[in-house]
Amino acid sequence: MYGDSRISGFVSNICRLFLGKRMIIAKSRKDLDRMREVGELIAEVRETLRKMIVPGITTLELNAVAEKIMRDAGSTPSFIGYKPHGMIPFPFAICASVNEAVVHGFSNNVPLKEGDIISLDMATSYQGFVGDTAFTAAVGEVSDELKQLIRVTGECLDLGIAQCHPNKRVGDISWAIQQHADKFGYGIVRDYTGHGIGRTMHEAPQIANYGRAGTKEKIRVGYCFAIEPMLNLGTHETKTLADKWTVITADRKPSAHCEHTIAVTESGPEILTLTKEQKAQMKQAKSETVAA
Ligand code: MG
Repeated sequence: MYGDSRISGFVSNICRLFLGKRMIIAKSRKDLDRMREVGELIAEVRETLRKMIVPGITTLELNAVAEKIMRDAGSTPSFIGYKPHGMIPFPFAICASVNEAVVHGFSNNVPLKEGDIISLDMATSYQGFVGDTAFTAAVGEVSDELKQLIRVTGECLDLGIAQCHPNKRVGDISWAIQQHADKFGYGIVRDYTGHGIGRTMHEAPQIANYGRAGTKEKIRVGYCFAIEPMLNLGTHETKTLADKWTVITADRKPSAHCEHTIAVTESGPEILTLTKEQKAQMKQAKSETVAA
């Protein structure tokens, strides 16, 4: 069943108070409609930025465009001012992480170069719900090694999403991502994970990008997850720069990251962070498969 997220949000806070554990908040049908709307909105931002990535553009330019689309649509960029305990508020609408930067990179006025890769992560809040998505793109022509890293990160995301059926477990998502990344010997980032999402950007559960099938929380209808594999060409280890936010690989080898917000429905995963056009294409592809 789809729950009422306000009631389960309240119960979740009580559980946290007494048991020290956060409960996963199932969304109601009405909540899911809102999650669809914000998902589509942030997907439009993502696809606009994707088209802008060419040698010479700066991450500050990308950030400005992202923030404008978010605000023009009446939404609030979720990253600006985001301040986990003990941190300085994050200053940008997007995280822009170039080459060895894994996540949480600051935008700046350094032009992107041919051969770079860039990971852009973005989230916005609209009508009380958050959509979160990320992708890594090549700047101009990049090496085959980097093309493969980007491709496999996307495949890991798809495999993780495919596990999101009622009665499967969160560990099944983690396992699906890990077993594919391991085939290529990539370092799977452990310090940062996917997460539940809804009225706030980060809800229970944590969704690690490595783990064992059949473990962790049971997946139920109405759960919404942000699934986000982060894969490194070298070691899985990371460190944080002096700006207190930018996370880079410990060996400074490149890293890729991609993310969708999804909802668990009776019939399995529904990707919420797709544009209208992408949804139409998927519908078309599905009807062609059925016809064939
Ligand atoms: Mg996220």
